[in-house]
Amino acid sequence: MSRIVYVNGDYVPEAEAKVSVFDRGFLMADAVYEVTSVLDGRLIDFEGHAARLARSLAELDMTNPLSHQELLEAHRALVRKNCVTEGMVYLQVTRGNPGDRDFLFPDPGTCRPTVVMFTQSKPGLADNPAARTGWRVITLPDLRWARRDIKTVQLLYPSMGKMAAKRAGADDAWMVQDGLVTEGTSNNAYIVKGRTIVTRDLSHDILHGITRAAVLRFAREAQYEVEERPFTVDEAQAADEAFVTSASTFVMPVVEIDGVRLADGRPGPVARRLREIYIEESRRSAI
Ligand code: PMP
Repeated sequence: MSRIVYVNGDYVPEAEAKVSVFDRGFLMADAVYEVTSVLDGRLIDFEGHAARLARSLAELDMTNPLSHQELLEAHRALVRKNCVTEGMVYLQVTRGNPGDRDFLFPDPGTCRPTVVMFTQSKPGLADNPAARTGWRVITLPDLRWARRDIKTVQLLYPSMGKMAAKRAGADDAWMVQDGLVTEGTSNNAYIVKGRTIVTRDLSHDILHGITRAAVLRFAREAQYEVEERPFTVDEAQAADEAFVTSASTFVMPVVEIDGVRLADGRPGPVARRLREIYIEESRRSAI
């Protein structure tokens, strides 16, 4: 079935959706994005994603083309029109089409941002079989630019990382800078020792995950200790458990790092419990 997608205020069949070849999102990756998950046909953590979108745009001097209410209505309309019960809404805002290729930013008064949104149905998002066995990850040097806190569409290096993981028979790659893990290709990384959860502190080095914020809040409420600090690959390999978080994987246990099995090689109790709590709480507060 053909999807209905959103392009600059219009809802059109995907085959009719058009963006200019001069769009700066296409030519220069001059664009930011958000991915919001859908459970039971409702949006998870929408407020967090809307707030991070506004921040990414502000950091790049881009105008925010949609009001909060317009953004929410467009998300809900797409979910409804495409009958999504489990899946996600992808949103991208580019600096627009200035009519020519030029390194200088166009005048925001005359060049309006391009806004594109679409849905992807993913039945089994919550009951993901991968969460029962856990992910195996490899590590790679973090060769991305230095402003990973801005959610831009410059995803080539993370894509290469995912391909390297696949070639190595693994599920994802954790990136390492100065001997310390930054994050996964498209998720935040955590290790667990006893009842202590360790994850890298927020800075320009990592994306400020919306799922990360929620999971750390739930972890503290459930009386786990949380340490926000960097950790080495050696420390991770000696941990009791590890996991990653993202809007599309929620909490995903990690059972192996660079070929080294963690504990008994099965998803650990802390990751499993946090996944349960996250899904339960997200369903409850979805809008
Ligand atoms: N880090 C990176 C590099 C990501 O691409 C993502 C997912 N977009 C995350 C972390 C997780 O962020 P969120 O929980 O907001 O999906």
